[in-house]
Amino acid sequence: MSKKPQHGVHLFPVDITPWKKGNTGIDYVTTFDSGVAGPHLMINALTHGNELCGAHALKFLFENAVRPVRGKLTLSFANVGAYESFDAEDPYASRFLDEDSNRLWNETTLDGERQSRELARARALRPAVDPIDHMLDIHSTELPQAPMLLAGIRAKGRALAEGIGAPRHVVMDAGHAAGKRIRDYAQFDDPTRDNASVLVECGYHFYAEAADIAIQTSLRFLRHFDAVAPAFLEAHLDPAPVEDQLVIEVEGPITIETDHFRFARTFEGFEVVPQKGTLIGHDGDREVRTLFDDCVMVMPSREPLKGKTAVRLGRIV
Ligand SMILES: [Zn+2]
Repeated sequence: MSKKPQHGVHLFPVDITPWKKGNTGIDYVTTFDSGVAGPHLMINALTHGNELCGAHALKFLFENAVRPVRGKLTLSFANVGAYESFDAEDPYASRFLDEDSNRLWNETTLDGERQSRELARARALRPAVDPIDHMLDIHSTELPQAPMLLAGIRAKGRALAEGIGAPRHVVMDAGHAAGKRIRDYAQFDDPTRDNASVLVECGYHFYAEAADIAIQTSLRFLRHFDAVAPAFLEAHLDPAPVEDQLVIEVEGPITIETDHFRFARTFEGFEVVPQKGTLIGHDGDREVRTLFDDCVMVMPSREPLKGKTAVRLGRIV
């Protein structure tokens, strides 16, 4: 069933075919090598095919001739097949072709026998991801939400999010039971290694500003590692000061158990509910209340459906 988004489509795909050939032997993956010692960074776009802002960010970096001044920089467009299927009349359909690319990054899944178009692409990308020291994975959200960095559960993810410095909200979460995200892959989730990654959610998929947030977050990521020349940042980085970040640790998600879930009031996301035990909704006849003081409402669902997550309850750390 096609579904035209309620908030309209204000951001559109860009032509990424100039970067198909790349220089790594993997389509749509390009590595620039400074020839100087330093970390190998990756900026990854289009893990979800309809999250267009990442394609805009990479196009911006390519067209402005981004080059690392130390280490290496890999720019990759992940689920190009899904992106190419984008239709503004049915824009949610191009999130993936066969299955969610961002649930496949368990080694056992990648090594296994199962086949899908997304698995084929993930397996093709894997040799490009394996040598990466630090990664920024660019996403956007299905409905209007404040942008945020998802930093995983480890201190190194949080440190990277704080090094990037914006967007304001940093959410530490464990990912999905259904399978690992690329940001949780191998080295990035290994507590014995320094490799860090963050996922940025640049707000609503189809707002034009998502592209600006993706570009600015990419520039901040590069700045954090002193990976590009100061003149490059001066030319492109928004000089406006940013607000202090708020780091939020996600506790148990509220899973909807009935067909009659409703919030007690409208939550846009990141509201802080001061008092433990405050009524936030009803699931059928059951009252849903906050579990601790200063409870942050993380990613409240606009369409609370049975079996889905209504909201995640976050603690400010
Ligand atoms: Zn996504």
